[in-house]
Amino acid sequence: MSLYARAARHAWRMLGAVALGVLLIVTVDRLYGHSTLAFAAAILLLLIVNAPMLRFNCPRCAKNAFFRGMFVVPWPNRICTRCGLDLSDTASHNR
Ligand SMILES: [Zn+2]
Repeated sequence: MSLYARAARHAWRMLGAVALGVLLIVTVDRLYGHSTLAFAAAILLLLIVNAPMLRFNCPRCAKNAFFRGMFVVPWPNRICTRCGLDLSDTASHNR
């Protein structure tokens, strides 16, 4: 599987984690009232789920697929923003 495909799958997982985090906060808010603990738990969940994001690096120049310049984007780049390598090309990921 190409780096782009794996990164895209991770992006979907992140989306699910965000939805879960929001659901957690809303549920706790309804049941127990406003809770900073629920917020902390949701943020912790997002940090844990998002940790593998740092592994999606361009095989040629090691630039992270989720970074556009200095900014982090929720969806991976199909083309590396630094060296222009096609990250959806399956042949280029075993280096
Ligand atoms: Zn690159």
